[in-house]
Amino acid sequence: MTKNLSLLGSTGSIGTQSLDVARKRGYRVRALSAFSNVKKIEEQIREFKPDVAALVSEDAAKDLKVRVADTGTKILSGKEGVCECAAYEKADTVLNSVVGMAGLEPTLTAIHAHKKLALANKETLVAGGRLVIDAAKRENVDILPVDSEHSAIFQALQGNPSNKALKKIILTASGGPFFGRTAKELESVTVNDALKHPNWSMGAKITVDSATMMNKGLELIEAVWLFGVKPQDVKIVVHRESVVHSAVEYDDNSVIAQLGLPDMRIPIQYALTYPERYESPVGELDLAALGKLTFFEPDYDTFRCINICREAIDRGGLYPAAVNGANEQANLLFRNGKIGFLDIAKRVEAILPYVPKKDVYTLDDVLEIDRFAREFVMKSV
Ligand code: MG
Repeated sequence: MTKNLSLLGSTGSIGTQSLDVARKRGYRVRALSAFSNVKKIEEQIREFKPDVAALVSEDAAKDLKVRVADTGTKILSGKEGVCECAAYEKADTVLNSVVGMAGLEPTLTAIHAHKKLALANKETLVAGGRLVIDAAKRENVDILPVDSEHSAIFQALQGNPSNKALKKIILTASGGPFFGRTAKELESVTVNDALKHPNWSMGAKITVDSATMMNKGLELIEAVWLFGVKPQDVKIVVHRESVVHSAVEYDDNSVIAQLGLPDMRIPIQYALTYPERYESPVGELDLAALGKLTFFEPDYDTFRCINICREAIDRGGLYPAAVNGANEQANLLFRNGKIGFLDIAKRVEAILPYVPKKDVYTLDDVLEIDRFAREFVMKSV
């Protein structure tokens, strides 16, 4: 169980909720890292008094160093600083809630440093795939999912450690703010429309991924790596209420699901306290008050990102990393008002013919294809 925590991505949505869990459970926060939010990380440093803290942005780190000169916290900077936090000797657990591919190297660093890894950074597994899983096996490191769906699957698999008789994973999707809309209706939606998620309060990147349903495609790939299943054994179902967080189906057609209010502090806490459970700040689920739960087949023609991800993981190799890199760039372009909503899927799909076929790959290959994919998407603006 976690006692000393290193939290990467501490100023984001998962980061601040993780600190809420740490506060309530009385964990010692040893290391914090963020991208550039000086004001927020300063508050966190003053409250949690970590030994070290890092900001990716060099300028922001300089500013932070001056602001917290009166504290005992050592300030680091750059990607190297984040990796130092990931390997920090006094931490037993690393919770990686970095957004995007930038989380991959800190993840590998934490694994090589033999930390227990609570993983909220799905892009780590999408882009890193076999690299990450093989490293964790080699170093005998546990990866505990924080993503709510994967936590639900992990919870439904308890008592069945080798995934025996596991037939299928049922991955639930909220459907996002544009559920039920046609492609024609999505032509003119705005960034603000896309940022209105019906159930979950999350950061901007993942909220847009949720609107395109790219998030579900990425989670399909994440599930394949985390649970060692075939892509065709992951079934996606739209569940508007976000109460059933996902389920597993066994060979006897028994389905075991995990339910709860849509609040990330349950999966965050479970990843940190596993295999124990404790009371949490999240409210009780009142099924009778809910009345009904609904389920639908996804609209694959309108939300094409799911199929693009399925194709990427079917092809294997560097395809998922390429698709992820293209999506990170297209998602950003959309948020900056440079491209339309439907252009995101178009740009991500366009990368597929240009991905080199390579079943065995290194970290450098992944970083290279990620860079290529981003440039490719930029060029088509
Ligand atoms: Mg999720």
